[in-house]
Amino acid sequence: MSKSFQDPEIIKKIKTKIHNLADKFVDRKIRICHVCGTHEYTISHWGIRSLLPSNIEVIAGPGCPVCICPNEDIEQGIWLAKNGYTLATYGDMARVPSNQGSILTARAEGADIRVVYSFLDVIKLAKSNPQKNIVFFAIGFETTAPTVAIELINHQIPSNLYILSAHRLVPPAMSVLVDQPDIPLDGFIAPGHVSAITGSGIYESISDQHNVPIVVAGFEPADVMLSILAILQQLIHSRSKTENLYSRVVTREGNKTALTAMDTAYEVVDARWRGIGVIPSSGFEIAKDFSKFNIRVKEEIPITGGRDIPKGCRCADIMLGKIYPEDCSLFNSRCTPENPIGPCMVGNEGTCAIHAKYGGHLDLDSD
Ligand code: SF4
Repeated sequence: MSKSFQDPEIIKKIKTKIHNLADKFVDRKIRICHVCGTHEYTISHWGIRSLLPSNIEVIAGPGCPVCICPNEDIEQGIWLAKNGYTLATYGDMARVPSNQGSILTARAEGADIRVVYSFLDVIKLAKSNPQKNIVFFAIGFETTAPTVAIELINHQIPSNLYILSAHRLVPPAMSVLVDQPDIPLDGFIAPGHVSAITGSGIYESISDQHNVPIVVAGFEPADVMLSILAILQQLIHSRSKTENLYSRVVTREGNKTALTAMDTAYEVVDARWRGIGVIPSSGFEIAKDFSKFNIRVKEEIPITGGRDIPKGCRCADIMLGKIYPEDCSLFNSRCTPENPIGPCMVGNEGTCAIHAKYGGHLDLDSD
């Protein structure tokens, strides 16, 4: 990665341009939303917010796959682990609290839980343990969903391995966010890695139908600053287009191999997002052609449902871009990365965890 994307002088030049444009929005607050934990990391770690004029705000939406995974999916995983299956999932996911405790709590109670780093680890685990029935609790956005899809269509899944799919799709959530009447949004920074799979073209109908500028951005500080500048420029000229500022990685068409694999291996379904509710056409379920690997087809898994967000936790408001973590009374007091109360404090991509670790408002411009 070129150092120029981290060069303070370049960032300050972009900052000046942002301030000049912001002056044109007299008495108007501009709210720009991103939907990506990695963007929140960049913004917090590099102190991007401290570089912006007071009338330009960048808020975090539901960009953390662990945080948005609903209670009912976690409970299904725990039920399976307590009923004879070995449950494999990522470390962050295992720590998220549900009404039945976390997946790690289930392990402490004797359930067979394996923390993995990739789906390939799970395939190896299943192949080396043919006597066990393994379930992969598959979470994540369009970035991780292709891995499972490609193995399914290439018939690389052993017969003792099943999928509990909790994959979610980012663009439908953006459509919901922009429609919130109480939280007006003026633009989106679209996630570079998701867009590398989907292509930037996927956002065009959103920017057209909702009259909102969408700019695909990478993860260096200059990438984010340039995306803010591009959104302001669109607003000044009353435009609402999808722009791709991450062309070194993202094309308009996306990754055709991954898209074809997902089209074949999954069905798009309505899906619940923690703290937000059901979003139409926002989830992947295993397609009928591969239903022998779908654990929800093999087992009737009871769902108790119940409260998605712990009492006092304000993750729902954070994921909807209504507040910052610092606005939660439990932030960094009763709720910390070591002892998370809500899902946003659990994983590396959780907004509360990022703010707890990096402060959220560091000052790059303190010279
Ligand atoms: S600080 Fe903790 S309790 Fe508060 S919103 Fe974040 S995760 Fe929830």
